[in-house]
Amino acid sequence: MARRLAQLAATDVGVLRGVGPAGVEALAKVGVHNVLDLLTYYPRRWIDRGRQADIDTLAAGEEAMVLARVRSASSRQTRNRRRMVVVEVTDGTGSLSVTFFNQPYRERQLRPGTEVVLFGKVELFRGRRQMTNPLVDLVGDRTGRIVAVYPQSEKAGVDSEQVDRWMVEVLDRSGVFEDPVPPPVLERHGLVDRTTAFHDIHRPDSMRAKERARERLVFDELLRVQLTLVARKRELERTTPGFRHQVAGALVDRFLAELSFELTGAQRRAIADIGADLAEAHPMHRLLQGDVGAGKTVVAVWALLVAVQGGHQGALMAPTEVLAEQHHLGIQRLLEELRVPDDDEGSLFGGAGLERPLRLELLTNRTPAATRRRLLAGLASGEVDLVIGTHALIQEGIEFRDLGVVVIDEQHRFGVEQRAALRARQAGGAVPDVLVMTATPIPRTAAMTVYGDLDVTVLDELPPGRTRIETVWARDPDDEAGVWTHVCEQVAEGRQAYVVCPLIEESDKLEAASAEETYERLAAAELAGLRLGLLHGRVPPADKEAVMAAFRAGELDVLVATTVIEVGVDVPNATVMVILDADRFGIAQLHQLRGRVGRGAHRSWCFLVGQARGADGEERRQAEERLGALVRTTDGFELAEVDLELRGEGTLMGERQKGHNDLKLASLRRDRAWVLRAREAAELLVGDDPTLSAHPGLAAELELFLADEDTEFLLKS
Ligand code: ADP
Ligand code: MG
Repeated sequence: MARRLAQLAATDVGVLRGVGPAGVEALAKVGVHNVLDLLTYYPRRWIDRGRQADIDTLAAGEEAMVLARVRSASSRQTRNRRRMVVVEVTDGTGSLSVTFFNQPYRERQLRPGTEVVLFGKVELFRGRRQMTNPLVDLVGDRTGRIVAVYPQSEKAGVDSEQVDRWMVEVLDRSGVFEDPVPPPVLERHGLVDRTTAFHDIHRPDSMRAKERARERLVFDELLRVQLTLVARKRELERTTPGFRHQVAGALVDRFLAELSFELTGAQRRAIADIGADLAEAHPMHRLLQGDVGAGKTVVAVWALLVAVQGGHQGALMAPTEVLAEQHHLGIQRLLEELRVPDDDEGSLFGGAGLERPLRLELLTNRTPAATRRRLLAGLASGEVDLVIGTHALIQEGIEFRDLGVVVIDEQHRFGVEQRAALRARQAGGAVPDVLVMTATPIPRTAAMTVYGDLDVTVLDELPPGRTRIETVWARDPDDEAGVWTHVCEQVAEGRQAYVVCPLIEESDKLEAASAEETYERLAAAELAGLRLGLLHGRVPPADKEAVMAAFRAGELDVLVATTVIEVGVDVPNATVMVILDADRFGIAQLHQLRGRVGRGAHRSWCFLVGQARGADGEERRQAEERLGALVRTTDGFELAEVDLELRGEGTLMGERQKGHNDLKLASLRRDRAWVLRAREAAELLVGDDPTLSAHPGLAAELELFLADEDTEFLLKS
């Protein structure tokens, strides 16, 4: 009978003949407990014996892979007291001297007679070929052309050869696997069957076979994620009562007519997408992606006004108080002149033709108790039309009379749970439409996985008249002096500047202290005579407010701050952004910070100060690439691609995806095309059947692989 993966998951690795108690313990340390864990403990590399180089043909400077046998290994101390292991290897054509620094265990590991694969750069030393600290794989006496190399752990006591032996038994005893993916889907994407895939990922006859196995397993991983997302979306659409908003109306017409600018084409398209969602019976669930300054706010406010126009309420939730306040100010300005046509026929004063002001409120943890009480009453009675706030909006005790549209800014800081909580704040009845805005552009296929249950609209066009931001990397201390001169010149011309202090992630307190130090130094030296303000996480709220207000009003020339100014701060007169120790920041963060300037009519600059540092060469290279990318482009999507390339998807998925630990082989970068194929297949398979009742095998696997939270809806029905 064909095997199901669930059966393997229910079988302890201890039942394998080759795995004794010591093996069980070692495997547990690398997270392998059951047979399915072991089967999906995939090789990290495959070595093609046919491709290795002969030692006697190696040229100096060349990166090479060599398959050889150890002749001798010895260890000694260097003059500066480092441990050095020297290993002599030969492959029959010649010999190679391999030196390891600070890896004393190599002497034990590489006993004479051991067969090893070495990857490294060939050097010539006194006429002899050698390698220093190459990558090492033990291949044992495996025959066959392709050798799988498993992740090894010296600490856990798991080595590749051992895993390889266990894998033979696993594959042998598993036999044929049941394949839950319907044949037409496999055919459409040219995929091999599951039995072949598991066999060939571990013991391929050729690199091509390994590649095809990988494709199939990658597809399965991505399909499970997409099935979950698509099914959840369908299920929500089917079961959740939403509002059928009346999109056309006097209030939104007025709002658009009174704007001081023309909407961009992208804004118009976004409004059309959102309008269509709002008019549907089921709740909207849309992501609005747009680079900094793309004009998301107008689009969001438009959606909120659709709610107000229909007699409902709207809420906008921001991740920080500074941002909530900023939004409140900006939106207040946008809505200043706007009056709500009151066509309530039954009203006391005789109905149509009357107008009333729109009631917009701000709710954060700083809202004084009395105001807060009044505000909560207004939300519950429906008198408050729009509320802007932080997490405070989803706290216990807050109830809306009739919440029609919710906008969440900066989604990556909110989780699914918070969105659900906001929905639950409703006294009863329909579920509000939700628009999520993010200024952190992420590549489309990644979005499809990370935000896969959302529809996506992209604002891919900046409003006209934006000035270019020139980005300069001041990497030498000499360059830094020029940066401060430039700041002074700009201030002399009536402009303002930001100085962002070094990021200290571990400690708020240290960061504040360093910001204060920077402030003192600049005030006393480089920027003496200018009006400076200081802003960091430890500044008391009231002072923070005062500093921001003063900067906005132009009473301060330079704002020295930590990343508290990362999002939302909007002062068009500011034209210089100086980021100190810029190599400490991530791409997205640098891009956000840079977006604080170039918001007005004046030419703007961003100075990245500092060298690319790092604990090792790789870290330095990455810092170098990050800063280089910032200098090269201001396109957020291009930067997002670079970021994904550098950091991998792990960081991107973050908390939200912690349940999706199933992506063992798939890479959102490398396998972009497969994300799209999996999405297509998922849509086809789910169809009108969100519980996957027609595909019980797949439904069972979702349950097996993905976190409870994600599959709850499948089990419930
Ligand atoms: P985002 O939130 O996407 O970063 P904002 O909504 O804050 O961008 O818009 C940035 C600035 O551009 C605001 O001052 C806003 O008034 C202005 N703006 C928005 N849309 C347009 C447009 N179509 N034409 C000109 N200016 C616009
Ligand atoms: Mg709707």
